[in-house]
Amino acid sequence: MERVIVAGGGLAGVRTIEALRAQGHTGRLTLVGAEPHRPYDRPPLSKGVLRGDVDDTTVEADWTALDCELLLGHRVTGLTDVLETTAGPLGFDGLVIATGASPIRLPGEGPQHVLRTIDDARALRAELRPGARVAIVGAGWIGAEVATAAAAAGCRVTVVEAADAPLSGAVAAEVGTKTTGWYAEAGIELRTGVKVASVERGGLDLAGGGSIEADVVLTGVGVRPETAWLEGSGLTLDNGVAVDERLRTGRPGVYAVGDCAAWWSSRFRRRLRVEHWDTALNAPEVAAAGLLGGDRLYDPVPYFWSEQFGHMVQYAGHHPVADIMVWRGDPTAAGGWSACWLADDRLVAILTVDRPRDLAQGRRIIAGQKRVDRSALADPAIPVKET
Ligand code: FAD
Repeated sequence: MERVIVAGGGLAGVRTIEALRAQGHTGRLTLVGAEPHRPYDRPPLSKGVLRGDVDDTTVEADWTALDCELLLGHRVTGLTDVLETTAGPLGFDGLVIATGASPIRLPGEGPQHVLRTIDDARALRAELRPGARVAIVGAGWIGAEVATAAAAAGCRVTVVEAADAPLSGAVAAEVGTKTTGWYAEAGIELRTGVKVASVERGGLDLAGGGSIEADVVLTGVGVRPETAWLEGSGLTLDNGVAVDERLRTGRPGVYAVGDCAAWWSSRFRRRLRVEHWDTALNAPEVAAAGLLGGDRLYDPVPYFWSEQFGHMVQYAGHHPVADIMVWRGDPTAAGGWSACWLADDRLVAILTVDRPRDLAQGRRIIAGQKRVDRSALADPAIPVKET
């Protein structure tokens, strides 16, 4: 394998470069990244960067030792026999697609922030001034974290959510609804079941009529995988670049990793696309191994965390395969709690609030596909353990 190109300069991109070198690739390496910045971490953007605690989240990497050609500020534009880029066509022997995902914007002429890049975070932070009326569209992970930062900055915050509860799209409404009280405690107005039609000058126009006045609008309604540039390439695009359990596309030598990749999960027997840091961190090692002639499966228990309203929320597994949900601890009382999902009495997913030990124990049991005792699981005094 002489030349490998990585398309996309996020965490998955830099991790792929590092993994290729660590696993012995001695040929040429090129990374093409649309942003002008070296790869950086995104989780702090909605946390420390918005709070003003940190301003630079660049991933530490020794680019000299990695001996990688960095084409930053250049886009990949198509895939034929070569990789088409704004820096010209590039021939390759191996290609790893790591172009991530981009935020969805709402219609309308008014100014709206999204939060995906360090530049987005700095621009939003500059507007989070005491007394500013901030409207956040979407009570998902990003919306909740931005609401936390905006309230702490002294803004008057309204969060508008089309579903009946926060986090409904991510972890089911019955769990998300238990976070509703966190908004009120932070002095935030949460309006659920309200659909925004457009962002106009001065605020939001609502689908059912009416409007919400705002000085600052943040749209946090989800992302789309960055794969439009692959239309017509012959690769299968199905909510991301479709890859197998070894992260291979249908074209030899072409892999996909991170937020843009929809991989076949042997564990959950379905295709998964997981827009979280842990996937971007770990999938590249598998793709690198495959490119260098190895044979590794990518079969993780998906994991992520979110820090919102002073709570640490962590999740492992894939709850849509579950047939029952078990509460562990009382979500309406003070202190932490967890939600556990079972399929055929095997733990398949767990969400924990301020209970990191539950998460660590649960994740191990999910990985081992072990059975659990429901009544023991429901007792927060008993560790999460297999039967
Ligand atoms: P990306 O980070 O999106 O990187 C892709 C890169 O490719 C980008 O730089 C993009 O500009 C570039 N690119 C796109 N198209 C092209 C093109 N045509 N040509 C060249 N380059 C291109 N996860 C958690 O688990 N916990 C958290 O608390 C958490 N917080 C988050 C907070 C924020 C604000 C955001 C945005 C994400 C957060 N995440 C979190 C998710 C996590 O950061 C992502 O899953 C991770 O960044 C994905 O990495 P990636 O390299 O696959 O994609």
